[in-house]
Amino acid sequence: MDFNGHMDTVVRVAVTLVNELTPGERRGRPFRLPEDGGAAATAALRTAYPAYRELGTEEGAQLAAVAARLRAVFTAVADGDVDSAATQVNTLLRETQARPMLERHDGEPWHLHFHGSDDTTAGSWAASCATGLAIVLGSEFHDRLGVCTAPHCDRVYVDVSRNGTRRFCSTACQNRVKTAAFRARAKGD
Ligand SMILES: [Zn+2]
Repeated sequence: MDFNGHMDTVVRVAVTLVNELTPGERRGRPFRLPEDGGAAATAALRTAYPAYRELGTEEGAQLAAVAARLRAVFTAVADGDVDSAATQVNTLLRETQARPMLERHDGEPWHLHFHGSDDTTAGSWAASCATGLAIVLGSEFHDRLGVCTAPHCDRVYVDVSRNGTRRFCSTACQNRVKTAAFRARAKGD
């Protein structure tokens, strides 16, 4: 699945923002909102853009609010409710007034960026991520957004495997489930 290099990056950013900035469970343990939301948000964005500038507490909190909205889209798709996911993405696109703009920087060829109506970092990322998810939902890969199915984990993922059979956020969760199944079978003998 390669819609376009930049869009793939944006979808990955959406996944990372949700996984680093929304509370819940991760790989069998409770996951709370990090105390320093600014540092967590910076770390999340630097997974895709290593030189991303340092974000403050306020910006971290705003991005966490965006991440909560993005999580709802992944949850809806995982629940088989693509209609709800599409409605929520449309709301985000409308609210952020996402607008496309061709840009060229850092020696890259022209590529499409999406900006929000305001120039805040959170507003721009909300617009970009909503656009990225809109492109996924509007494609044949609309069911590729997922929530980890391992027990006590609700981290999200985008399934870029060829046959679309991914079920876990990470190999850690996949192994947890495999081990549990193995133990259950061993007990049954
Ligand atoms: Zn997981």
